[in-house]
Amino acid sequence: MTTIILLGPPGAGKGTQARRLVEARGVVQLSTGDMLREAQASGTEMGKRVADVMARGELVTDEIVIGLIREKLSAGLAGGFIFDGFPRTLAQADALEALLAEMGLGLDAVIEMRVDDKALVARITARATCDGCGEVYNDITKPIPTDGQCTICGGTTFKRRADDNEDSLRQRLMEYYKKTSPLIGYYHAKGQLQAVDGLGEIDAVAKAIADILGQAKS
Ligand code: AMP
Repeated sequence: MTTIILLGPPGAGKGTQARRLVEARGVVQLSTGDMLREAQASGTEMGKRVADVMARGELVTDEIVIGLIREKLSAGLAGGFIFDGFPRTLAQADALEALLAEMGLGLDAVIEMRVDDKALVARITARATCDGCGEVYNDITKPIPTDGQCTICGGTTFKRRADDNEDSLRQRLMEYYKKTSPLIGYYHAKGQLQAVDGLGEIDAVAKAIADILGQAKS
């Protein structure tokens, strides 16, 4: 059983590394961003309510995202969980701790992915996602294959996120520094924080994370 939080600004590579961990360790990825985008795509009331907030790059309410996580956790125990993009506020961190405690779980590691702001803008504005499986590509570091097929599922359609533009990104970074970065101090004080350099190659970052998890209890 592994319970991990990936912490870092938008574009740090949390989603990419979370997917690698799903493959390597059989854990379940819990991405609140993906859940909110799914709610929008399927046209639920909640999805409609959060659409504008997300497009602007602001955070949706703690109540909504905590509700989403509560629902997923109550669906049952898997081999473990990777939280990707959650928690993003101290209130969410407290709620997560309480939810995990109810399940008799603690956190094995909180991994901060460090990437400087210039690299984030370049990464995010170059990002595209496979429609079929959600695999993330990047025009610069990991281009869509020349045959136009996703290496994971063979899908041939890719989309760019509505909030992957410079204006929303600026707002998302502001939200990160104001509301999410205090979690770095919070988890550090609890002795749970570890950091990796998120600027390296995807494989190198994955190795750094695996090294950390190798030392964490499982
Ligand atoms: P992400 O895919 O993690 O970059 O999230 C995309 C957008 O979804 C964010 O900019 C927020 O508007 C919203 N969002 C995702 N996760 C959270 C969260 N834990 N708390 C508040 N808003 C969130």
